[in-house]
Amino acid sequence: MTTYTVINPATEQPVRDVAQASAAEADAAIERAAKALESWRAVAPGDRGRLLHRFAEQVDAHITELAALETAGSGHPVGAATWEAGQVRDVLAYYSAAPERLTGRQIPVSGGLNVTVKEPVGVVGLIVPWNFPMPILSWGMAPALAAGCTVVAKPAEMTPLTAMRIGELALEAGLPEDVFQVVPGKGSVVGQRLVDHPAVRKIVFTGSTEVGQQIMAGCARQVKRLTLELGGKSANIVFADSDLQKAAATAPSAVFDNAGQDCCARSRILVEASVLDRFMELLEPAIAGIRVGDPAAEGTEMGPLISAAHRDRVASYVPDDAPVAFRGSAPDGPGYWYPPTVLAPVAADAPAYTEEIFGPVVTVTPFTGEAEAIAMANDTPYGLSGSIWTQNVGRAIRVARGVETGNLSVNSHSSVRYWTPFGGFKLSGLGRELGPDAVDAFTEIKNIFIATE
Ligand code: NDP
Repeated sequence: MTTYTVINPATEQPVRDVAQASAAEADAAIERAAKALESWRAVAPGDRGRLLHRFAEQVDAHITELAALETAGSGHPVGAATWEAGQVRDVLAYYSAAPERLTGRQIPVSGGLNVTVKEPVGVVGLIVPWNFPMPILSWGMAPALAAGCTVVAKPAEMTPLTAMRIGELALEAGLPEDVFQVVPGKGSVVGQRLVDHPAVRKIVFTGSTEVGQQIMAGCARQVKRLTLELGGKSANIVFADSDLQKAAATAPSAVFDNAGQDCCARSRILVEASVLDRFMELLEPAIAGIRVGDPAAEGTEMGPLISAAHRDRVASYVPDDAPVAFRGSAPDGPGYWYPPTVLAPVAADAPAYTEEIFGPVVTVTPFTGEAEAIAMANDTPYGLSGSIWTQNVGRAIRVARGVETGNLSVNSHSSVRYWTPFGGFKLSGLGRELGPDAVDAFTEIKNIFIATE
């Protein structure tokens, strides 16, 4: 048996050893999920909803414990981790109402009656990244279970602890055995078995575009259903007529949430040239004011990066001759720390401007006029998130329609709400999670004609 030692990124101390499932153990879990599917799909919709609601309540009763686990195992500030655990509860509660609303249609035909029913797609494999272990798990888990699917979830190797605990809470809430299983292990072993095993009928993958492309190719061999939530390089577009104070004050949250390890990070700030200097004056204190430090301490806004290797990768985008405009602070001593860093001016072909950094590094670039802002925002293979700052409603809508991205905010840095759809354009992904239609994505429509003559 191989084990993985989870490391606290803030202290570099071991937290816990976790047994890694082998390919055979992953197969066994998938086969148990396939067996459990028959009874789970047959649970009356109201009862399935009640069980999911109990699951939500069970999570609610363990928010503090889950948050502490995430802080220790992933380095998330405890305030953020508490919010993330709360999101698992809220997503479960939201989708607990769905089983009774999974209605089909009656379609007029001659000589009979035509009805459609929504059948659960089958066993669902969830492959979860390390950056938001709890919310991303819940985004796939809750609607899949509501649809009557059984779920095998593979957390990221580095951050399995909260998913494992949520798996236990599901059983404590009364979900039948094998309806929701968490199988820790390597992506190349457990993740690969989820992609390759024919009993898994849908994969929900969140992670890098590169691995997502491999998974899509693997799913193609079995025409397996697939949702991909991939990388991003989103723009935060600030027009001269905006509330500059607010745009600058919230720009750090738009990019440095979770130390920038956020697919929605708006890591390119585009500012109308006429207000660039004023914006930079306002941004500097906002960056200096970010409270970076012990994630277990109340009030900490930014913790460490996930690993030493990831910190090295982030640092490679800021070589010694990088145009650092200003920086925030970061603790000395153990921990994978990296200070919030603002680069300006950057060349349009600089890797820091073109590639997803997934760390606390942001570029600021001027633009002239609406058309150039849209063109610059779209000059990336990604299209996940984005923000627009302007007091002109017409412009806000024109620019929002022009930017090729799945999720936009106007005069706000907020990006994800579980009751609205979430997903990407271009290399940022395929399909949508969350929102009222997410359960449908875990069903197949069956069309039945009943002759009356
Ligand atoms: P990876 O793609 O490396 O890993 C994501 C998950 O896939 C992990 O659980 C990993 O397992 C697993 N995996 C790796 N290789 C395989 C394989 N061959 N077959 C099946 N599964 C595999 O991404 P990161 O974990 O590094 O996450 C960062 C990326 O995720 C960023 O690009 C980010 O933008 C993106 N992301 C996108 C989001 C969105 O909603 N659009 C949200 C969050 C992140 P293991 O780690 O155990 O090897």
